[in-house]
Amino acid sequence: MSAPQHDLKDAYDVVVVGAGGAGMAAALTAAAHGLDVALIEKSAYFGGSTARSGGGVWIPGNYALQDARQVDPGDLEAAETYLDTIVGDRVPKARRDTYLHRGAEAMDFLKQHIPTRFTWVPDYSDYLPEQPGGRAAGRSVEPIPLDARFLGEELDRLHPPYTKAPANLIVTQASFRKISLGLRTLRGPITMIKVMVARMVSLMLGRKMYAMGNAIAIGLRKGLMDLDVPVFYETPLTDLEITDGSVTGVVVERNGQRHTIGARRGVILGSGGFEHNQTLREKFLPQPTDENWSTGAASNTGAALEAGIAAGAATDLLDDAWWGPTIPLPRGPWFCLAERNLPGSIIVNSAGQRFMNEALPYVEATHAIYDGEATGISHVPAWMIIDQRYRNRYLFAGLSPRQPFPGRWYKEGTVVKAGSIADLAAKIDVPADALQATLKRFNGFAKSGIDEDFHRGESAYDKYYSDPRVKPNPSLHVIDQGPFYAVKIVPGDLGTKGGLLTDERARVLTTSGEVLPGLYAAGNASAAVMGNTYPGPGGTIGPAIVFGYLAALDVAQNSAGAN
Ligand SMILES: Cc1cc2nc3c(=O)[nH]c(=O)nc-3n(C[C@H](O)[C@H](O)[C@H](O)COP(=O)(O)OP(=O)(O)OC[C@H]3O[C@@H](n4cnc5c(N)ncnc54)[C@H](O)[C@@H]3O)c2cc1C
Repeated sequence: MSAPQHDLKDAYDVVVVGAGGAGMAAALTAAAHGLDVALIEKSAYFGGSTARSGGGVWIPGNYALQDARQVDPGDLEAAETYLDTIVGDRVPKARRDTYLHRGAEAMDFLKQHIPTRFTWVPDYSDYLPEQPGGRAAGRSVEPIPLDARFLGEELDRLHPPYTKAPANLIVTQASFRKISLGLRTLRGPITMIKVMVARMVSLMLGRKMYAMGNAIAIGLRKGLMDLDVPVFYETPLTDLEITDGSVTGVVVERNGQRHTIGARRGVILGSGGFEHNQTLREKFLPQPTDENWSTGAASNTGAALEAGIAAGAATDLLDDAWWGPTIPLPRGPWFCLAERNLPGSIIVNSAGQRFMNEALPYVEATHAIYDGEATGISHVPAWMIIDQRYRNRYLFAGLSPRQPFPGRWYKEGTVVKAGSIADLAAKIDVPADALQATLKRFNGFAKSGIDEDFHRGESAYDKYYSDPRVKPNPSLHVIDQGPFYAVKIVPGDLGTKGGLLTDERARVLTTSGEVLPGLYAAGNASAAVMGNTYPGPGGTIGPAIVFGYLAALDVAQNSAGAN
C-alpha cells in the first residue's frame, strides 16, 4: 500500500503548510469537518521536528491521564494557576486558558481519528513543580509504541530520526529513564531485557514498531491517509497571496515552478520555527548562536515568519527558543537531558565557576548560559566536568556506561581528558585554582546533600533523572575519581519559539492588533503560548496539536470573510 497520488488543484477550502505536528493535526481536523484540504510540505518527509522528538505531550486532563488516574480534582484550575504563575502576562490569559480548557478535547479528537494511543509517563514531573499549581507526578503523556505497517511505502517518508537506539530497539521515555541508570538499579537491566525481547518478537512477527515522536507523526499521517487528504511533498511555501487585505492562498514552488494555490476559507501555517536559518538566528536570538546546535528539523527555516511579516503580521518571542544545553558531537548536536541531572557532574563557565543548578529544566538552564554570557564572562562554550566514576555508572550522550568516548570526540575538542583537575583546567583554558575551588565546594555539598549555591536536587524535576542509590541527595555526588573529563556545552535548541502572534482561535494578528483575515498559525510557526518558559515534558507538541486543531475548527466554523 502507498498513499494515493493527487494532482495539485488550483484551489482548496484550506491550505495547510507543513506536515509536522501542528500542520497534520490541522489538516486532519479540517478534513474531518468536511473541508477540501491540501497539505503542502517543503521536505520529502512527513513529521518534521515532531517525528524527531521524544513524543511527550503536556495537555492537562487528557484521556491518557484520566485512564492512569492522574487527573487530580481541580487539576485544570491548578494547571491554570501554574500557567498564570510561570507564563503570566507574557501571553494573554485567554490564550493560555483556551489551551488548557480545549486541550483534552483535541486529544479526544485524535483518539477518534488516528491509531496512536497515549499513556502517562510516570512521575515525569512538571518542569517547575514547586510553583503554585505545578505537579510533581507530572502531566505528560507519550505514545504507546505502534506497528506502522499500515503506512506501507509511505513509511519511507517518515522524517529521519534525531538519534537511533542501538539495534533499532524501541525505547519509550519511561524506559529511557530506567536504562539511563545503567546497572545502578535492577530496573535498568530488567527494562533493557524487556526492550530486547520486544524487539525480537517484533522481528519474528514482521512488525515495524515505532515510539516517541515517530509514533505521533505516523499516527497523524495514517489519519490523513484514511481521510484521503493530499500531501504534496517538496512543495515549499514561498509567499502568501493577499487579496483586499485577506489571505486568499499560498505561493509555492513545485518541480522548479511557482504555483499559486487558492485557499477559499483559510491558510494554516504549521511550518515550524526558524532554527535552521542562520541569518534569522543572528538577527533575533541571543549570541553566539549556530544552527548546527539545533536538533530541530533541517527544513525549518522560518518560511511562515517571513511570509507572515510580509503580510503585515505581528510577531512575538523571537529572541527565545526551546533551548537546551547541548553537546556539539561530531555527528550532530546532542540535547543534554539526563546527563545534567545525574550525580557526579557539574557545569562551569570559562572562569571555572558553576553558574546554575545544572539540573534545571532545559529552557531555564540555557537562559542561565546566555545570562552568564551577558556578564562578559564567556559561558559559550561551558564545560561539563565529570569523573571516571560517573562515566562508569551512567549512559552518556548515547554511550553505554564504561564505553570509552570515541576518538573523534577528542579530536574535534568535544571532550577533553586529563589525570588531574589542574591538567584538565589547563586543557580547556580555565583557571586551575578556580576550578579546583569550585570542585572542593561542590564536593562538600555532595557530602552534606545540600547545594547551598544553586539548590540542585531539591526540585522534584531534578530528581526525575537522578540516581536513587546516591544519598543524601540523588542529584549530587563528589567528583574525585580520575581521570577527569570536560565535555563541551553550547546553547542549543529543539526549535525556536518565537513566531507570528495569534489569538486564542489561532488567528494571526496584525501589527495593529487586528485579525489578519484568512491566516492562522500553530506550533513553532506561532509565538509560543508558553511565553518564555516550558511547563513540562510535552509543552511544545501539546500546543502544536491543540492550536492546529483549533485553527482548523475555526476555519470550519467561520469563512475567512466572516472573521
Ligand atoms: C530531539 C527533539 C526532541 C523533542 N522532544 C519533545 C518532546 O518530547 N515533547 C515536546 O513537546 N516537544 C519536543 N520537541 C520539540 C517539538 O518536537 C517541536 O517543538 C514541535 O514538534 C514543533 O511542531 P511544529 O508542528 O510546529 O513543527 P514541525 O513538527 O517541525 O513541522 C514543521 C513542518 O513544516 C515543514 N516546513 C518548513 N518550511 C516549510 C515551507 N516553506 N513550506 C512547507 N512546509 C514547510 C517542515 O519541513 C516540517 O515538516 C523535541 C524536538 C526535538 C528536535
